[in-house]
Amino acid sequence: MKPISELYPLLSNARKVVITTHQKPDADAMGSSMALQQWLVKLGHSVTVISPTNWAGWVNWMPGTKEVIDYEKEKRKADAILDEAEWLFCLDFNIFHRTKSMTGKLQELKCIKILIDHHQEPDVDSFDYGISTTAKSSTCEMVYDFIIGSAHADLMDSKISQCIYAGVVGDTGSFRFASASASVHRLVADLKERGLEHGFVHEQLFDNFLENRWRFVGHVLQNRMEVFYEYNTVLIAIPKSDLLKYEIRTGDTEGLVNYPQSIQGIKMVALVIDRDEERKWSFRSKGDFDCNTFARKYFEGGGHYNAAGGRSSDSLEKTVQRFKEVMKENENLLQ
Ligand code: 5GP
Ligand code: MN
Repeated sequence: MKPISELYPLLSNARKVVITTHQKPDADAMGSSMALQQWLVKLGHSVTVISPTNWAGWVNWMPGTKEVIDYEKEKRKADAILDEAEWLFCLDFNIFHRTKSMTGKLQELKCIKILIDHHQEPDVDSFDYGISTTAKSSTCEMVYDFIIGSAHADLMDSKISQCIYAGVVGDTGSFRFASASASVHRLVADLKERGLEHGFVHEQLFDNFLENRWRFVGHVLQNRMEVFYEYNTVLIAIPKSDLLKYEIRTGDTEGLVNYPQSIQGIKMVALVIDRDEERKWSFRSKGDFDCNTFARKYFEGGGHYNAAGGRSSDSLEKTVQRFKEVMKENENLLQ
């Protein structure tokens, strides 16, 4: 993988570009994609964003989201655009299988593939150019760095700023995690000077739910949360019937895994949701418990040190049982 700075001289020729990201894109995945798209369009490129799946409604305020193609819904159209692409940007994921049903298609593409990502253990051999560093708060920060490091930083306007800010807020837990470095705060200051209205972004991300979502959160915290004080661990397991009863949509479960972290002494929170095709895990930790290793070792997943995800094809009941076994196995690490 060549350094991404080697792309700068190639930016002056108009290209057909596709930007894609991980399944169920969050604020960082969607924000980085929409920011990069707007900037590349300003440079004269023809740019399509393809999401592997649908996404949360609370990112729909980002300019351009109406034109984003949902691969699961419009596979044929997306495949045709991918076949024509000269450049493929892969943002906020580092291995093709994170795009679920798009995986096979991405593997067979012959175009130039470019990685911008901050997760651990990148599959660098699959990319021609790119940057992969776990030291960065978010892919949005990395897209910002890419734009600012170019000869076209002046094209960064208030709309692009909003998208970048959204991803930074999302991935730093609103500037709370250690990843909210001095460079992140400098980025925000710079975006403010470029016209960013940060309050607007916070409202879009956090004040944009329907009543049923909060009723659901209340129900889950009351009835689905188990606290294992001897292991400093909280487990939340959500059956499909809850998702149906509360009419839960993509994005409504975002942030749920963070609430139990505020219980005194808790080191790890594990949330599992019974999705149609799999049981999907989210793991969060504080301090020296490595969620990435845990998710990789037991639940076919990965991510960051203090935030990772995984999956299981077992039933919810079996998955929960397995979790309790491995929690006990990890007793020493959880102290
Ligand atoms: P979340 O719990 O918010 O879905 O994910 C937490 C972090 O782990 C995110 O950075 C996400 O990209 C990553 N992640 C989530 N699920 C998986 C997975 O199945 N595999 C890998 N490698 N990373 C994941
Ligand atoms: Mn991210």
